[in-house]
Amino acid sequence: MGEIGVVRGQVCPACGVEDAVRFVPGMPDPELVRAAERGLVVLSGCVVVEGQAEFRCRACAHEWGSPDDPTTDEQELADLVGVQYEDVVRAVGTGWRRADEAHSGLTWFVSGRPAQVALGVGGGMVVLGAVPAGGLLDAEDAGRVFSRDDLLCAPEWLAQAADEIARARRRSFRWCPVCREPHPPEEFAGYRGVCVDCAERHHGLGR
Ligand SMILES: [Zn+2]
Ligand SMILES: [Zn+2]
Repeated sequence: MGEIGVVRGQVCPACGVEDAVRFVPGMPDPELVRAAERGLVVLSGCVVVEGQAEFRCRACAHEWGSPDDPTTDEQELADLVGVQYEDVVRAVGTGWRRADEAHSGLTWFVSGRPAQVALGVGGGMVVLGAVPAGGLLDAEDAGRVFSRDDLLCAPEWLAQAADEIARARRRSFRWCPVCREPHPPEEFAGYRGVCVDCAERHHGLGR
């Protein structure tokens, strides 16, 4: 479940440490109760409180955020393009996280789980491209190049391009027979079509 554990990319605005967990509202199931006991979530109960924070820092107990706030990576993306985060969401949606690979002098982000769309920023360009096996492609070859003005004035162009790229990528996903989660083709171990994670976790499945 994505809500359990330290939230990647959420740096505490009070102490600067990346060690925040989420508040989870509603009636918790046993898994959530155990997670709360281990300090991996905070249960906020069934009563909806106006202005309820989204995150609590485990280092300093500071609480902040709303569910719609950008992550640190998403804010960085907006800053690099030179627009508001809402403009990014309107054009290409949410879930952006920094990719380690640097290509073509651009800073790359990916979105989707598993990753489905790559977005490169730099030199006044926004490049939308596929996330192929073994890393990101070079910008101009595989990507569609947009300007900051395109993103602001014609967000539907970017949205359509991102959607086409994501659909094509999703068509390549297969489902692992052990964890029954979708994986991109590069994440499968040879034997019995088991995903790499499962092959490593359960000896005797892979290789
Ligand atoms: Zn803190
Ligand atoms: Zn698996």
